[in-house]
Amino acid sequence: MLRLREQMVAVCRRLQQLGLVTATDGNVSCRAGDALLVTPSGSVKGALRPKDLLLVDLEGRLLEGRGRPSSELKMHLLVYRRRPDVNAVVHAHPPVATALTLAGLAFTAEALPEVWLTLGPVPTAPYATPSTKEVPAAIEALVADHQALLLERHGSLCFGRDLDQAYMRTEKLEQAARVLFIAHELRGVPASVLGAEALAALTAGLPRPPGPDPRRSRRQRTEAA
Ligand SMILES: [Zn+2]
Repeated sequence: MLRLREQMVAVCRRLQQLGLVTATDGNVSCRAGDALLVTPSGSVKGALRPKDLLLVDLEGRLLEGRGRPSSELKMHLLVYRRRPDVNAVVHAHPPVATALTLAGLAFTAEALPEVWLTLGPVPTAPYATPSTKEVPAAIEALVADHQALLLERHGSLCFGRDLDQAYMRTEKLEQAARVLFIAHELRGVPASVLGAEALAALTAGLPRPPGPDPRRSRRQRTEAA
């Protein structure tokens, strides 16, 4: 049990170091025999100590520890009930992945071969008021067939056979979201350059346009060089 507690604390620290959670964001849990180890509500994840983690049963009742279990425990419990193969759940607030949901962009895992192989499809669960029963209801239909989900306007939810796998899926999700975001940005550039007319209007008043003088032919420029 101590080893599990140490692993969970290490995962929480990495989440905070990489900016996948800030302040008291996010929550992490894992199976510990017939019970669950879970982060306490309102805790700064990067500052947690092994003894701060709480033990709860599969109904969410506190068995051991001081404080209240995470307010999103209901979401974790649903995952464990539906997925006997899952032993750890990480909920984070990765900024780029979350921003994709605000922009209404799908997380196209199939665009990146390694992401497709490790995460598979990553659907976005519809918006639900955080910390309420709406959250498990919003993800219910998606839990059985996925390893990672985005929660609209909220964050990510990744599962795994152990804490490391659930954590690494979160890290990979945010990195892939960053690549998708950059690709969207780059694709926007060709369409947003100024047209020839607008460029001409821009340089009309200048004694000589910046860069090579278009009024001279290429040959003239080559000869002069
Ligand atoms: Zn959250």
